[in-house]
Amino acid sequence: MTPVQKNYENIAATVIKKMAVRQIEGYYCPDKEAALKKALELIPEGASVGWGGSVTMSEIGLIDAIKGGNYTAIDRADAKSPDEIRQKYLEMFGAEWFLMSANAFTSEGELINIDGNANRVAALCYGPQNVLVVVGMNKLVTDAEGGFDRARLCAAPPNAVRLGKKTPCGTLGKCGECFTAGECMCSQFVYTRRSSIPWRIKVIIVGESLGF
Ligand code: SF4
Repeated sequence: MTPVQKNYENIAATVIKKMAVRQIEGYYCPDKEAALKKALELIPEGASVGWGGSVTMSEIGLIDAIKGGNYTAIDRADAKSPDEIRQKYLEMFGAEWFLMSANAFTSEGELINIDGNANRVAALCYGPQNVLVVVGMNKLVTDAEGGFDRARLCAAPPNAVRLGKKTPCGTLGKCGECFTAGECMCSQFVYTRRSSIPWRIKVIIVGESLGF
């Protein structure tokens, strides 16, 4: 183990203790392969599983593993019309598992998310029996304010480019406080202080840089 990896492990151990006070279950995995293994240990075969758009989840291979495994995958990509997309989102609220990343997590164990459509943060707040959040160490911030800054200053520009958004962050590389209909990715700012249902939210912290 390199000194950096050892440091990451120590930092994650501290954050995981703070998450436990908030009834959020934390795990640390040194790399994406270990994160995938941990996620598949947590999600029982046969479970219904939905997910929000997440580069991190794709990077660790979890979406492919769910789609190719013995699970009932609720995939928005299977929807062929706006009505069917809405049905998929509603179906995800009743899922046994919902998978997502976060825009940031704090050294105090809080989660920070900004969402344009809000289906992702809605499922985080309520609905699915279990929510599995996978975050790379690149998303660790000091506090909630730093997390929201990170989301808009660091994550939004590459995300806007990836999604083809015609927003100031996508075209100029910085936030312009837009309100662009159908484009703006910043509708709901969600700060998760704790989980009211103990251990419903599970967080795998990965000792690598993942997602934006
Ligand atoms: S408010 Fe608009 S410009 Fe700013 S980060 Fe969000 S989508 Fe980008």
